[in-house]
Amino acid sequence: MSNSQRNRRNFIKSALIGAAGISSYSMLSSCSSFDDYLFEDRYSFQDEVMIIGGGISGLYLAYKLRSKGTEFRLFEGSNVFGGRIKSNTGIDYGASVLSSQNILSNDLVKYLKLETKNLDKDSIYITSGMQSLSDTLVERIIGLIPYRNFRLRWKLVAIEKMSAGYEMTFENPTGQKKFNCRKVALAIPPSQWTSITGLLDLPEMKWAKSWLTSMEIQNTIKIILPIGAVPVSSKPLVTVEHENVILRQVIKKARSSPIVEVDVSYLTKSDISIDYIYGALKKKLQINYPFQKLSTEQFYDWNQVKLINGSGFKNFMAVPESVNRNFQVIGDFTAHSGIYTLEGALQSASQASELFL
Ligand SMILES: Cc1cc2nc3c(=O)[nH]c(=O)nc-3n(C[C@H](O)[C@H](O)[C@H](O)COP(=O)(O)OP(=O)(O)OC[C@H]3O[C@@H](n4cnc5c(N)ncnc54)[C@H](O)[C@@H]3O)c2cc1C
Repeated sequence: MSNSQRNRRNFIKSALIGAAGISSYSMLSSCSSFDDYLFEDRYSFQDEVMIIGGGISGLYLAYKLRSKGTEFRLFEGSNVFGGRIKSNTGIDYGASVLSSQNILSNDLVKYLKLETKNLDKDSIYITSGMQSLSDTLVERIIGLIPYRNFRLRWKLVAIEKMSAGYEMTFENPTGQKKFNCRKVALAIPPSQWTSITGLLDLPEMKWAKSWLTSMEIQNTIKIILPIGAVPVSSKPLVTVEHENVILRQVIKKARSSPIVEVDVSYLTKSDISIDYIYGALKKKLQINYPFQKLSTEQFYDWNQVKLINGSGFKNFMAVPESVNRNFQVIGDFTAHSGIYTLEGALQSASQASELFL
């Protein structure tokens, strides 16, 4: 490349980084060939931390690393950040409630200046929807560094241990790309591990094969009902069990909200139909509502979200402490307290950020 070409390219690059800002971020990042053109990626990232997964644990790790001045790259396989956080017009289809005792999530909510309301004396929710937490966090991180540190639609498909670090293969809309690095944070649900060639053969993941086979995957769906469908007497947060379905939480969000959210957990192996779940709901909560008429917008099945599918487990088995500081497995399932919660995901990311230093 000639000097004039290089200068022109650098000019376009810096002008676009400056002009892109937050609002154009998603447009730019979804345009992979443009992305590749602007930011020719190196093969070797040496000591930059490669974060795989852009759910809240991957995002929070990125935030912590950035605040400590540690270089990182984050790769999200789907076309959105947030993972199991998903909201639309204030309705939460995934995580919804935070305990008022939580330390990290409450601090984060305050730092991001998000408005909250009390659900009851022990729990709060974000009025604009939980997705504001992941969206605003992404904006904060991107606000200070070039957006190339975050990639959407880059899915890890293979990993191999090399003499110097790890070689990772990503699939993106334009094909495949290989990178080498010394530091990896795996922030994806365990149910996805087997789809990554070589992952379970790494010495760092030796424990995972038997760990995975002894775990029973549990799925969660979210059902959104009009507030009138649930008796006034039902408590805002209740957990009930009916045969092998757990109605984990019934969430009535303040009096002003017209909806009730119900998290329903069930074992993947069991043959459970939506009618069965409605039956269980009706019986346990004594709801008299014509569920059959519910439209698909009132029902969110995480089982259909490929990269998140089967994120929870019925039985709990602690993830062993990592012996290799350069290869960290993070996520809500690794948390010592608050397993399968947002707080647990943040704790796990926070610990990893200390080990990567
Ligand atoms: C219905 C429901 C209700 C919930 N309610 C609450 C609640 O009220 N309060 C609470 O605290 N918690 C709740 N949770 C749990 C909470 O959502 C999770 O604990 C938290 O979001 C987990 O974040 P994570 O980053 O660990 O994982 P995830 O959110 O699963 O993120 C993993 C990310 O990795 C990506 N990925 C997967 N494979 C690859 C790959 N090969 N390459 C690149 N990227 C990949 C995925 O697309 C995803 O974005 C709820 C969950 C559900 C499903």
